[in-house]
Amino acid sequence: MDSFDYIVIGAGTAGCVLADRLSADGKKRVLLLEAGGSDRRFWIRTPIGYGKTFYDESVNWKYNTEPDAGLGGRRSYWPRGKVLGGSSAINAMVYCRGLPGDFDDWCAAGNPGWGWADVAPAYQQLERRVGADGTVQGDGPLWVSEREPEYHPVKRHFLAAAHQLGLPATADFNGPQPEGVGAYAITTRRGLRCSAADAFLRPALGRPNLTLRTGALAQRILFEGRRAVGVAYLQQGQLRRATAMAEVLLAGGAVNSPQLLQLSGIGPGPLL
Ligand SMILES: Cc1cc2nc3c(=O)[nH]c(=O)nc-3n(C[C@H](O)[C@H](O)[C@H](O)COP(=O)(O)OP(=O)(O)OC[C@H]3O[C@@H](n4cnc5c(N)ncnc54)[C@H](O)[C@@H]3O)c2cc1C
Repeated sequence: MDSFDYIVIGAGTAGCVLADRLSADGKKRVLLLEAGGSDRRFWIRTPIGYGKTFYDESVNWKYNTEPDAGLGGRRSYWPRGKVLGGSSAINAMVYCRGLPGDFDDWCAAGNPGWGWADVAPAYQQLERRVGADGTVQGDGPLWVSEREPEYHPVKRHFLAAAHQLGLPATADFNGPQPEGVGAYAITTRRGLRCSAADAFLRPALGRPNLTLRTGALAQRILFEGRRAVGVAYLQQGQLRRATAMAEVLLAGGAVNSPQLLQLSGIGPGPLL
């Protein structure tokens, strides 16, 4: 049985940030578990590879919903990353901050710390924004690049047509006027994908207090009474266990996080 302070389940977008921040002091022992494998792949690094990984089961959970009455009884395809970086390794890289008004609404609904004034500094801290002319703003780990100068002429015609229709133009979806039609920024670094693993995890992996295990599928969160104290996971055909002295952090994504809670005995009674 391995012992750590924190166990983070899922090395996706959220998990990579959590593993970085929690291990930053060099003291807390952090275990990061990821069901998928390495992201060192041509079609992940190359932005257009998103069209390939969309259906590649070696990096994608490839979920399908149950037949949905709202879709005329059809199933809906839900790709989800199963690889270091999670869905940020296979997504379309479009970078849009949340809207200030939405954060303020959440705060006003009774969530202190989630207002725009609270959240804006976190955005500034994480971003390195590279403008269309090559100017750089911020020195955060996540590269956010404007690519408008490389646009194909057809895209320019599309934008011009939208403006002719009277839709407002915006030069920056992350600026003071986020609403409108324009060219969006993408999370690339010098032309290659900048996933959460690239931005947050890779620089942290040199820390001796951060342990990464890939091909490690969490099976169950372990409890003592109502307190989460560890994780049982499957790696190379063996069921292993790790304990967390402080916390277990579930970052398995919108589908797998609730699934793992249910496998651990937490969820709607009739379903369990
Ligand atoms: C094809 C696609 C295109 C997208 N395009 C965009 C876009 O252009 N712009 C944008 O902002 N967003 C986009 N998104 C959405 C965005 O990528 C996700 O919202 C975000 O990455 C979710 O982060 P997460 O941390 O919640 O989950 P994920 O990043 O999915 O991470 C979850 C991780 O947990 C791992 N995991 C799950 N279960 C277990 C388990 N039991 N044990 C161990 N590990 C486990 C998974 O393998 C995965 O690595 C896109 C998503 C997809 C799939």
